[in-house]
Amino acid sequence: MSNFEYLQNVVTLQLDQAACIGCGMCIEVCPRSVLSIPAGIARIERRDRCIECGACMRNCPVGAVAVRSGVGCAAAVINSLLGRKGGCCCTIDESSSDKGCFC
Ligand code: SF4
Ligand code: SF4
Repeated sequence: MSNFEYLQNVVTLQLDQAACIGCGMCIEVCPRSVLSIPAGIARIERRDRCIECGACMRNCPVGAVAVRSGVGCAAAVINSLLGRKGGCCCTIDESSSDKGCFC
């Protein structure tokens, strides 16, 4: 999974480099090594690896990162890895006992 890339050119991740203070928190919490801090300011290094989990946005102290978490199937991927079901963008068959992802 370490080299897994999400769909190309659809990730909603945005970084306001002017607002970034280089604290490194986004680097710490990102499970996909999407961001880097090459010169004291964060940079999006591997955009298509982002799974839109929202961890960077929730932990950035100055609001420099924005991402529409939950709009893709990243939630389903994470839930699946954790052995859970649900949390997916796609159609769920409510009549079924299995409420998991149908991707
Ligand atoms: S949304 Fe998640 S995967 Fe994407 S850059 Fe932020 S922490 Fe990393
Ligand atoms: S968490 Fe925010 S302020 Fe800190 S390095 Fe990342 S983008 Fe910059």
